[in-house]
Amino acid sequence: MRIVLLGPPGVGKGTQAAKLVERYGIPHISTGDALREAVQKGTEIGLKAKSYMERGVLVPDEVVIGIIRERLAQPDCEKGFILDGFPRTVNQAEALDDILRSMGTDLDAVLYITAPDHVIVERLSGRRICRRCGRVYHLITMPPKKDGICDVCGGELYQREDDRPEAITKRLQVYREQTAPLVDYYRGKGKLAEIDGSKSVDEVFSQIVGALEGKR
Ligand code: ADP
Ligand code: AMP
Repeated sequence: MRIVLLGPPGVGKGTQAAKLVERYGIPHISTGDALREAVQKGTEIGLKAKSYMERGVLVPDEVVIGIIRERLAQPDCEKGFILDGFPRTVNQAEALDDILRSMGTDLDAVLYITAPDHVIVERLSGRRICRRCGRVYHLITMPPKKDGICDVCGGELYQREDDRPEAITKRLQVYREQTAPLVDYYRGKGKLAEIDGSKSVDEVFSQIVGALEGKR
């Protein structure tokens, strides 16, 4: 199963991707996670990406397209994958089409997850992440058992720099201007399934499974 999770920052793509990994056993590929890891390790890509990410704007297309091209060539992607946070521009979507065509394959579905802006802002501002294992929490909707500590590994929870108010506003503007046009792009290809992301995690997941299994 080859899936793209499309939707604004904070709508719950990563949360749903984790559940899809469990159900279908295919890899979760998040360009945001890959870029944050590169920044943390201080690699060449990380050094290029850092200032864009801090400002809440998109990293240049060629950087993320390169990451995806390499990742999709790995053997664990043969049976499928879940793309989260890529593509984010029409140029990236066209590059993805080319990469998949050259592999003799295509996307099965683009799950377009939506929620009203106030829900998205609440989700982004309350998001906390484990520094050690990457598990995602929310101060109100998915709090850890112990304040500031990961339930799973005991790691420290932190807030992403770009989940602070100024960067959130910028990211939503960038989403509207550069990423929202992908809705029409994929609708035109007959790939789009709309998912109401404002519901609970389990309700969103059952909509997703319904959309995917209807397609098989
Ligand atoms: P994205 O990957 O789209 O940026 P995340 O999956 O990281 O979004 O979710 C953003 C925040 O919202 C996280 O704190 C997460 O715990 C919370 N969250 C995700 N889905 C839901 C949901 N359906 N209901 C309530 N909170 C959610
Ligand atoms: P995310 O974790 O998906 O919210 O992404 C965090 C940040 O990483 C974004 O605000 C961008 O700066 C950068 N980023 C992630 N994915 C992409 C992409 N496909 N294209 C360009 N920039 C990206």
